[in-house]
Amino acid sequence: MNKQKEERLSFREAMAYSLRGFLLWWKAEPKIILSGALQRAVTALVPYLPLYFTARLVNAIAAGSDPGEVWQMLALLLISTAAVGAVQAAVNCWDKVMRYSQWPIWNRFFFDKLLSMDFCDVDDPGTQDLINEIGQVSNWAGWGLNRLYAHSADLIGAVFRILGAVVLSVSLFTLPVPQGSTLVWLNHPLCLAGMAALMILSVLAASALANKANSYWANHDGTAGNRLFGFYGFVAMKDRFRGTDIRVYGQDKSIEKGAMEMLDGKDGFGINSGIAGAARGPMGICLGASAAVSQAFTGVIYLFAGLKALGGAFGVGSITQYVGALAGLAQGITSLLENIGDLRANAEFLRPTYALLDIPNSMYQGSLTTEKRSDRKYEIEFRDVSFKYPGTETWALRHVNMKFRVGERLAVVGENGSGKTTFIKLLCRLYDPTEGTILLNGIDIRKYRYDDYLALFSVVFQDFRLLAQPLGQNVAAAIDYDRERAAQCLEKAGFGDRLASLPKGLDTCLYRDFEDDGVEISGGEAQKIALARVLYQDAPFIVLDEPTAALDPEAEAEVYTKFNDIVEDKTAIYISHRLSSCRFCDEIAVFDHGQVVQQGIHDTLVEKEGKYQTLWEAQAQYYQKRRSKYP
Ligand code: ADP
Repeated sequence: MNKQKEERLSFREAMAYSLRGFLLWWKAEPKIILSGALQRAVTALVPYLPLYFTARLVNAIAAGSDPGEVWQMLALLLISTAAVGAVQAAVNCWDKVMRYSQWPIWNRFFFDKLLSMDFCDVDDPGTQDLINEIGQVSNWAGWGLNRLYAHSADLIGAVFRILGAVVLSVSLFTLPVPQGSTLVWLNHPLCLAGMAALMILSVLAASALANKANSYWANHDGTAGNRLFGFYGFVAMKDRFRGTDIRVYGQDKSIEKGAMEMLDGKDGFGINSGIAGAARGPMGICLGASAAVSQAFTGVIYLFAGLKALGGAFGVGSITQYVGALAGLAQGITSLLENIGDLRANAEFLRPTYALLDIPNSMYQGSLTTEKRSDRKYEIEFRDVSFKYPGTETWALRHVNMKFRVGERLAVVGENGSGKTTFIKLLCRLYDPTEGTILLNGIDIRKYRYDDYLALFSVVFQDFRLLAQPLGQNVAAAIDYDRERAAQCLEKAGFGDRLASLPKGLDTCLYRDFEDDGVEISGGEAQKIALARVLYQDAPFIVLDEPTAALDPEAEAEVYTKFNDIVEDKTAIYISHRLSSCRFCDEIAVFDHGQVVQQGIHDTLVEKEGKYQTLWEAQAQYYQKRRSKYP
């Protein structure tokens, strides 16, 4: 993990990291902070109330007070305890409800960032590493923003616990043993200072030991074990698609081996794991010693308060008050120090979160609007465009020059890795060219408003994805949509018969992730729906990256026959491996090693010696062979 290579944060930096995270939560939803703080404060203060009244009651009984006064005291104890109990229940309830929003808010931090980032940065392997790291540390022990949320509330609780304890225990030191008692030496400032010092030392020692124990969790990198668990823990339960491979290839033995490693490996979760070893050894010793110091401290307070009561400084009932309050004080201070220690440790795990949130949007965004032209006259030109993917040294595109107008059908062909998809990514401004310019109606596309420019394109990417939502919403890419138009687009894309067979029509959910009556669709059907989505958008440019790759030959032929109807007056940019499917295009651009090596129509290109002819002949030969094999 990166954090091991980076210099450890100073205490100040760690607190600044924590404060930033705290403010993120506050900005996202102040109520989640308020409810947490209130719940911890009330929980911290509630035990002090019965402690105080019980002490008064026992003192009154021990002093032989008037029964009326005792009853009054008892009533007060019962009423106040009931009232405070009711308040605590209400606050607990609020806190619990607000905690349900913790994960959606956490998710939102990253969802918003990833959607607003420049696509080239989302696509960057470094960003994917950060996302993985954030997920791993969060899954491992809740490190990161989530832990910060919980611990800042606990910190507030600790402060209230300390304040309540101070109020209730201050008189232990100020009430003197009356003169004449043999225990009057307890009033001596040295005795009081000694007690205070003992108290501070034992609290510090208990906290330091507890922090030391916790540090084993922070230093133990459990992310590798978690990754193993993420895979092997669910391979049988969730990953039903692997089932066939596992059976056919007898992979159960290697899966079992991996699962055992998950359980018994050093980074795993079993009894031989590093963290279990620490728990049996130094971590366990530290925790035990911390508890022992706390208990010893309670004994000393009992002794001190008991002796003062014996000497007549206060009633015997007050002993429980002082012991309870000082035990609360010790717990409060321990919890405060523990939580500060935890914030310190957690700050290291906030690094990937902030590294992601701080990625700037560096793509230039202009302010020109793309005129909504009624004549739909748009012309796009690639002028000497070259491109390298960030962090790579090879040119994915080199000196590409091309022009196309609305209404034209452009086919982009070439072997795998020749730069076709990269060309589309640049066209849709998912990346900016490394060299050269792309122009829309003569103006650099960077000068247009990004959303405006993007709205000119409808794309079916090769690796498109549909959502497990109703069919109609998938087609319209919206929740509210024109049902008639969605149905027409599906019809045009060749999905009409299937739509008619669906009992819930456009409201049928795709896939069964969320609905039992959802439909599982084939790759070909998904491609038709994606095609319908393109048509629904009605953008002037439509881009189809291998649009028929998953279709059976019949459906493919149907799409080609209907291609003109589908595309209408729009510009179609059409990427395909199958040259036979490009014949109907007005222009064919042949890509090779990132360059446009040939351009023209099929009939001319096929006659000319060159890449197109080579590709064409290779494919034609394949078809001929197939034909002769299957007459
Ligand atoms: P095609 O669509 O013709 O198969 P691509 O445009 O996908 O080709 O790829 C062109 C070149 O760019 C290839 O060498 C490929 O390895 C490289 N490439 C594609 N995507 C990335 C990426 N995200 N990062 C780095 N290199 C990439």
